[in-house]
Amino acid sequence: MGENMSKRLKLVTASESEMEERSFPNPFPDWDQGVLTAANSAADSGVGTSEPFDGNGKVSEAFQKKVQNKIKDLLQQMEEGLKTADPHDFSAYTGWTGIALLYLQLHRLTREPSHLQRALDYVKRTLRNLNGRRVTFLCGDAGPLAVGAVVHYKLKNQAESQECLTRLLQLQRSVVSTDSDIPDELLYGRAGYLYALLYINKEIGPNTVDDAVIAKVVGAILESGKNLSKDERKTDRCPLLFAWHKKQYVGAAHGLAGIYYMLMQPGAKVSQEVLNELVRPSIDYVRHKKFRSGNYPSSLSNETDRLVHWCHGAPGVVHMLLMAHKVFKEEKYLKDAVECGEVIWQRGLLRKGYGICHGTAGNGYSFLTLYHATQEKKYLYRACKFAEWCLDYGTHGCRIPDRPYSLFEGMAGAIHYLSDVIQPETSCFPAFEL
Ligand SMILES: [Zn+2]
Repeated sequence: MGENMSKRLKLVTASESEMEERSFPNPFPDWDQGVLTAANSAADSGVGTSEPFDGNGKVSEAFQKKVQNKIKDLLQQMEEGLKTADPHDFSAYTGWTGIALLYLQLHRLTREPSHLQRALDYVKRTLRNLNGRRVTFLCGDAGPLAVGAVVHYKLKNQAESQECLTRLLQLQRSVVSTDSDIPDELLYGRAGYLYALLYINKEIGPNTVDDAVIAKVVGAILESGKNLSKDERKTDRCPLLFAWHKKQYVGAAHGLAGIYYMLMQPGAKVSQEVLNELVRPSIDYVRHKKFRSGNYPSSLSNETDRLVHWCHGAPGVVHMLLMAHKVFKEEKYLKDAVECGEVIWQRGLLRKGYGICHGTAGNGYSFLTLYHATQEKKYLYRACKFAEWCLDYGTHGCRIPDRPYSLFEGMAGAIHYLSDVIQPETSCFPAFEL
């Protein structure tokens, strides 16, 4: 009995400590200005505190080379691994559209024609597998159709591109329908369809998708948010409220941050009045849920400060805050975003792996976005350190994700991140940032 008891106690203790240890202690020294001076005197030292900047404060050629070599190596591993991946998974999140997106990214950065050809091969495969079950970019038919339209457009296959676009627009009927039970979040809901439309207009050209279509989708999201807010008697505090599976999530993937972030995109053309009266107070409501650490809860009813993922927590919310800072020009949003940066630096090297949904690469994107917003070298440094962590892919004893080579859970996401770190000015979190 006594022995059993102590065994049980041990089990409880183990699982509790596991809960706390969702991340590795960050082994890197934090940024300080002195690092740059050190780089001046030790430019060729290779590894050391001067990494990754050269004497001019730029990402050093040695570091870039190291990253490029790793990209080549990981791409090979990924291609090998994909041979056993689910041939029917067409999604951007775990399937072939995600791989097509990675090759589009590599083509954007290198202009290497074979990358575009690969993107085409993969996206063609997805277009044969659509099932009409979901409408979003990340998990539904909109992803393959939007990426198909873009790849064909880049290859000047006009008819094929147009066909993808037509099919994409046909999905809007179910998205805007008020009696459908479609949610509003990014992974499975209306915001995830809205992203697909905005992506088309960014990649192919403004007005490829008509403003009227975008306005309808935005209208349906706003309507849904106002309704839930009224039902929950929160119209004063949080005039736009959303739930997924009856839970009011906060993060980028299933929650408020992802939806508000899409509504604030310039391409969504939400009026300044609506932004001021509905979106801004709702963002402020989320801001008040901030933990002392600077992190955010996974849902409004959750009070444990646990997850530091893009999907749940500060690494997703930071994008909303930086966009709010851009749109509303108030310092408080930037201040909160900076706090996100601190907690991500402390707790962002995740045991869950190197992916972008709930992995180190996704958390690294927070620093790239903070770097865009502030132009502070500190954030580029931190982004590079998270990339450095990813250079040792697979050596930290992380959990192996279910789809280990995919864009959002696995290796393709880490490659995407590495490719952005060496050209940080144009970096872009895939299927999310525009
Ligand atoms: Zn996740």
